[in-house]
Amino acid sequence: MIYTDTRNKSVRTDFRTAVINGMNEQTGGLYIPLSYPKLDSSFINKIPEPSFRDIAFEMAKPYVEGEIPDDDLQAIIIDCYPFNAQVVPIDQVTYILELFHGPTCAFKDFGARFMARTMSYFNRNETTPLHILVATSGDTGSAVGSAFHNVPGLDVTILYPKGKISKLQEKQLSTFTGNVRALCVEGTFDDCQRLVKTAFTDEELRRKFRLSSANSINISRLLPQSFYYMYSSLVVKNRAQTDSKIDSPDIICVVPSGNFGNLTSGLIAREMGAPIKGFVAATNANRTFPDWIATGEYKARPSVQTYSNAMDVGSPSNYERITSMYSLEQVRELFASYWLDDEGTIQAIRDCNTRTGYIIDPHGAIGWKAWDDMRKSAMSNLLNGFKNPIDQPGLTPNIPSWAQNVADKKAVGIILETAHPAKFGEVVQTAIGRESSIPHRLEKVLSLPDLSIPMTNDYSSFKEWLINNL
Ligand SMILES: *Cc1c(COP(=O)(O)O)cnc(C)c1O
Repeated sequence: MIYTDTRNKSVRTDFRTAVINGMNEQTGGLYIPLSYPKLDSSFINKIPEPSFRDIAFEMAKPYVEGEIPDDDLQAIIIDCYPFNAQVVPIDQVTYILELFHGPTCAFKDFGARFMARTMSYFNRNETTPLHILVATSGDTGSAVGSAFHNVPGLDVTILYPKGKISKLQEKQLSTFTGNVRALCVEGTFDDCQRLVKTAFTDEELRRKFRLSSANSINISRLLPQSFYYMYSSLVVKNRAQTDSKIDSPDIICVVPSGNFGNLTSGLIAREMGAPIKGFVAATNANRTFPDWIATGEYKARPSVQTYSNAMDVGSPSNYERITSMYSLEQVRELFASYWLDDEGTIQAIRDCNTRTGYIIDPHGAIGWKAWDDMRKSAMSNLLNGFKNPIDQPGLTPNIPSWAQNVADKKAVGIILETAHPAKFGEVVQTAIGRESSIPHRLEKVLSLPDLSIPMTNDYSSFKEWLINNL
């Protein structure tokens, strides 16, 4: 596969360069593949659907062709995914796609593990370590730390905003040892991201160290996230008629979004032939993306803190990839967008639990509320001319091509559940009066010592620390 860049379409490079460099420091742009090859329809139409790992292999293959031989790719996929994505029906037309069965209980395990293994593969003949810098608003850091821990030749520094992530997330981040460490930054996620971005464009640092990124700007995290969209849409396509009694329902993926990496992966899966009719970009009060869809004006802004803190992003990096794939008009046809405040999030967790028995986390809850509103009345209201004011929680005023089918109850929803609810015990407790039970792999980290390193949000001290400690 040939890769290009979001800011200069004449750039040509390979997968290895895109993975190792993370972003194109010459242009400041993000790497994207030149094309999204369609999977064979005989593969997509298999009944029953192919296994998650078979789908992962077939989808990854064109993007690494000529750089990773099939046998090595197969080994990477098997090593990445000893766990699976699970499709759980919670009512006749609603599926939860559980993406928390990996080691850190967040969907980011899917991308981070593939990234670690492909980086390590490309680094196997190098003599100096590759230094990974990663800014996290929550789950990125632990997924990356866990995926890279003890991988030879790779070294990881994680930056997270002090006091702005859950206690359990902080515990997961601050207890790594060996080749992985966490800096606890006095500031916001955007500060962390700025420090990392500035380091990547710093000539002096680049001369000293081989630097790479690991947040969702790295293409090797984005591509593998497309696997579970393909997998779940094929599972749902094969069972939805029986579950819902609807003839060939439209499949709508509802994606709780922050930096929009996950949603971009969904777009890739759809380009490759996943039977997904449309997407819902669900956000919290960080409404940069829904505001853009509603007004046509993209205004990045400082992030605000919410209960769904892994989505507290005011300036989503992957906006750049989405707009390099589609025009605003195309986005308005393909997407609905919905935002929800904290009070609504609590109510959504409670409502989902009362009506279905399912305990959903604060991120997934925004997706649940978006889907539930849309299928009940919000889409038909929109089609009848009611436009929700953008400063009020709810749907953006654009009318997606599939809106009528949702209003006519000819659609089913797949809600991406991006984290295990036990990671947000306090919020869940507030909503339903009890916490969800905690998986053993999460419980274990609670007794480990805190090894995080305090850091201010100013670039010169960060740089000095890197020079003295890497
Ligand atoms: C990272 C994260 C998100 C947001 O994903 P993006 O790819 O940044 O849009 C949503 N939910 C959880 C739990 C996350 O960790």
